[in-house]
Amino acid sequence: MLAAVRTGAHKTEFREYPMPEVPDDGALMKVEVAGICGTDVKLYKTPPTADPVIMGHENIGTIAKAGREFMQRKGVKEGDLVFVEHYVMCGKCEWCHLGQYRHCENTNWRTNPDAIRYGYTSAKKAPHLWGGFAQYVYLPWNAVVHHVPKGVTAELAGLVTPMANGVEWSLFDGGVGYNSTVLIQGPGQQGLSQTVICKQAGASLIIVTGTSKDEARMKVASELGADHVINVDEEDPLARIMEITGGRGVDVALDCTAGAGTFPILLGVEALKRKAGIMVVQGEMKEFPNFPLERVTVKFITIKSARGHSFKACELALAQIASKRFPLEKITTHRFGLNDVDLAIRSVGNQGVPGVIHASLMPWE
Ligand SMILES: [Zn+2]
Ligand SMILES: [Zn+2]
Repeated sequence: MLAAVRTGAHKTEFREYPMPEVPDDGALMKVEVAGICGTDVKLYKTPPTADPVIMGHENIGTIAKAGREFMQRKGVKEGDLVFVEHYVMCGKCEWCHLGQYRHCENTNWRTNPDAIRYGYTSAKKAPHLWGGFAQYVYLPWNAVVHHVPKGVTAELAGLVTPMANGVEWSLFDGGVGYNSTVLIQGPGQQGLSQTVICKQAGASLIIVTGTSKDEARMKVASELGADHVINVDEEDPLARIMEITGGRGVDVALDCTAGAGTFPILLGVEALKRKAGIMVVQGEMKEFPNFPLERVTVKFITIKSARGHSFKACELALAQIASKRFPLEKITTHRFGLNDVDLAIRSVGNQGVPGVIHASLMPWE
């Protein structure tokens, strides 16, 4: 079987791997769609390891072959379409028991050299198939598997990761609900997914910001339910937000930008309402010179970290996709075959095919 292997910064090699033996408690998934997100752009540009890695952490596929015990444990059978979380759990820790596999040390590639996480783990580790940019992915006993509801195509199911992040960040972390006012910074697949989830949850005002490069994405944001879109290159976003909210500011500010530096945080602090706003952040800057701590304290702001998704968020995202309530096909704009993985990642990073919002890698095309 064939896999695209990252062998260095911006370097992909195509390698063949033997089909692994499937033990009684394991399975093999035929990859239908591997979603590509901004994280892939980052991991491809600055690989966290020198080891060869099959990237691809947003994986939808068909159970091609499964051991008896695996099928019993997971409630799946051969031929089922599933979404596999990229977190391969330990199954024993407090986080796993909460369905919060994202926090399990077994998946923490930053601190644990033996961690398993799809799209991150070294391809040197047998049976090698730890990423979705390949024809098959190996599922051990501790893979976390979700059924894709009937009637949902693999391509739309490929949106489950950004949508699950939408549920996790805006609803669970940000507390968005009926009548909430929300600022979503960044109109990529992540910001658009947040838009859909906030709309579904009953937000009364959704403002999405973007830059001049994001024109097509801003249009989609409006079509998916954003009440206002602001081009930060052309307008003063804070002045505009205050105008829209009658000077009140918003309840919740979500940062879905990439590489925008300290700007989204500073805007979030100012755009939040007078007291007790919530800000969900995901910057990974090492330093933040002149962080406005006093403003944060005086405004009684809560800052939360956007960190992936829980089991429950994935299930709610799949239900949201299955409801067909929103025209989500406006987000799944592009498909790429395995041979074009390099172009696909670059395109998601705005440096290849123009106009990409969500790219689906389809390894059999
Ligand atoms: Zn991702
Ligand atoms: Zn665990």
